[in-house]
Amino acid sequence: MSAVFDLTRELIHRVSVTPDDAGCQAVIAERLARAGFAIEHLRHGEVDNLWAMHGTDGPVFLLLGHTDVVPSGPVEAWTNPPFEPTLRNGHLYGRGAADMKSGVAAMVVALETFVRARPDHSGVIALLLTSDEEGASIDGVRRVAEELRQRDQRIDWCMVGEPSSRERLGDRVRIGRRGSLTGRLRVQGEQGHVAYPEKARNPIHAFAHALLELTAMRWDEGNDAFPPTSFQISNLNAGTGADNVIPGELRAVFNFRFGTASTAASLRERVEKILHDQGIDVADGASRLDWWLSGEPFLTRAGALRDATVAAIGEHCGIEHPEVSTGGGTSDGRFIAPFGAEVVELGPVNASIHKVDEHIALDELERLPGLYLAIIERLLTDRP
Ligand SMILES: [Zn+2]
Repeated sequence: MSAVFDLTRELIHRVSVTPDDAGCQAVIAERLARAGFAIEHLRHGEVDNLWAMHGTDGPVFLLLGHTDVVPSGPVEAWTNPPFEPTLRNGHLYGRGAADMKSGVAAMVVALETFVRARPDHSGVIALLLTSDEEGASIDGVRRVAEELRQRDQRIDWCMVGEPSSRERLGDRVRIGRRGSLTGRLRVQGEQGHVAYPEKARNPIHAFAHALLELTAMRWDEGNDAFPPTSFQISNLNAGTGADNVIPGELRAVFNFRFGTASTAASLRERVEKILHDQGIDVADGASRLDWWLSGEPFLTRAGALRDATVAAIGEHCGIEHPEVSTGGGTSDGRFIAPFGAEVVELGPVNASIHKVDEHIALDELERLPGLYLAIIERLLTDRP
């Protein structure tokens, strides 16, 4: 069988449920070292990260991926055991077959092929893998990106090998993602008897007006690349269970998914102003509001990377106009975009990801390395 098939199978066989890399990166590091790449293992806490690069100066093209997978769920629900890669009806089955051990294997094979054919290529080609994409995403690419920034690492282009396709390979690429911002609010009141409200302070009543305003607010109108910002309350808790007690506190958790029409800072400011105007002061200590920014939104405009990607898809997949999308959740691309990098995501069909009987079509798996290779060759040519 082919190199990409063999490597995908080898990776699926390793039970690398987040944050355990289960030796996947060691296999890849050894291969790339043999191909002439400089290798660094950047382990943080329980998370393994691999940084590999080839070339010395000029523009940097980074391939980005993850070796971890989500848990299989009940093993007996699978037709074949999830960590025993199985070829059936022209498809390769196993946890990670689409998300994203096939993409990782294809990138590795493309890198080997590229440096073998063009050992003196222009620019720098790099690979970054983490074992913490499906989990907390703290000690993975987020942390490595901080390290790279301290070293003044340049990154011009970033290809994320996540499963982006809808029905067949190359029919959709991601050119950006929405940002995600979570707020955890505690409104402090004063507990008391419902018959004596003047001797208590009801945090539910205090929050009611702010709640109405927050949920009715139109945060922005969106733009040509992103839908309007969405605000959702995911948790709201208060009360003791008794019908005669005014509770002492209220807790709420809410999340913004936002495009480039807003920023995390502007949304934070507006929420805090609404609360303040309704008499809830989160700055004074008793009540409080904690924010967690999972990532700012990013958008890659037309440019060298998008051009190279679309051309390669036309050539290898026979699709002239792939859909360009900013949909879906977040991805690790959010940590690379702040380098000023163009970021595009292209990978297998995502229909079976995180599900039972996850799979990839064999003919698409076989085409994947050539697709990545064609993009690399368009961006990094022979040195003059
Ligand atoms: Zn993934």
